[in-house]
Amino acid sequence: MKNIKVKRTVILLGILVSFLLLFGCSEEEDYQLVQESRFALGTYNQVTVYAPSEEEGQDIMDAVFTRVNEIENLMSINVEDSDISKLNEKAGESSVTVDPETFHLLDLGKEYKELTDGTFNIGIGTLIQLWDIGGDDQQVPEEAEIGSLLNHTDLNQLILNEDSYEARIEDPEMIVDLGGIAKGYAVDQAVQVIKNHGVEHAIVDFGGDVYVLGGNPDGNDWRIGISTPEIGESGVVGRLFSSDMSVVSSGDYERYFIENDQLYHHIIDPSTGHPTDNELSSVTVISDSALEGDILSTAMFVMGLEDGLDFVNDLEGVEAVLITKSKEVYLTTGVSDLFEIMDEEYTLAD
Ligand code: ADP
Ligand code: MG
Repeated sequence: MKNIKVKRTVILLGILVSFLLLFGCSEEEDYQLVQESRFALGTYNQVTVYAPSEEEGQDIMDAVFTRVNEIENLMSINVEDSDISKLNEKAGESSVTVDPETFHLLDLGKEYKELTDGTFNIGIGTLIQLWDIGGDDQQVPEEAEIGSLLNHTDLNQLILNEDSYEARIEDPEMIVDLGGIAKGYAVDQAVQVIKNHGVEHAIVDFGGDVYVLGGNPDGNDWRIGISTPEIGESGVVGRLFSSDMSVVSSGDYERYFIENDQLYHHIIDPSTGHPTDNELSSVTVISDSALEGDILSTAMFVMGLEDGLDFVNDLEGVEAVLITKSKEVYLTTGVSDLFEIMDEEYTLAD
């Protein structure tokens, strides 16, 4: 038996995707399993690496979280002098020069708004602030206020100059929010850092945005639990077998508040200005990139079951697991053999 040491600095609370049977091991190879969780980007970020030594594992952790902090300091709307805060502050006034990384994500935001028929829109920043789900000022706003902010979400008002990395928002009443992109991007960047250190087996889980690098060192695929989307419950609906893939979930049970028996959650439908309300309770996207998964899972959650399935079926290399409020699980063809239901309250739809 090899020597596996598990290091946990923070016990993860409320993660969306949990790992099953993580600690399989092989006879031949000698790894040190190093695991650490740190808070950033508004969530717990857990990294698990199979490193050549404990010391190298620690170095990798430091490098990963340094990278995550860089991204947060550029993209977060909650960091006062981030590129995004500066851009929003100058809305209607002037351009700001942003980091090429920020520029890239703003550009993708515009592209995915078109691709997702407006269901994913980084230009709804004022609505996100108004609801402030999970924040200190969360509230059910006045309809009139929602209605007036809906007039200021047109992403054509975000002008990008790729020669100079200048960005500007023409509409003084509009702000952008990369909250639906940055976490997925950070996962992909963390994986890159880990790969650069020569590690072959790792799991990155930033608040439910997951990438599994390589396979399980026991020679099998990783087994990734898809969390139950029921409010206040923990546990898994089923598990997915996967290697070298991102597995990213969006759901209404992650960040929310309840008022007058009504659930208000953090994914806003840009066409209504309200939290999305349809038959879905979660969407998990399986693809090569957590960035793409982050965007598409949110978009499909807004689209709803039928449109979401149609949308993903047209995309190459992207698979999905959709769970409805009536506890039906819909799978795209590419994952039908890779997913196993574990909670018998849930049934597979045909
Ligand atoms: P989930 O893991 O459930 O997808 P994320 O944190 O990845 O949650 O994405 C939700 C965040 O994205 C919100 O907190 C908000 O900042 C932003 N957001 C909410 N609705 C949308 C939307 N329709 N389009 C783009 N961004 C959104
Ligand atoms: Mg997401």
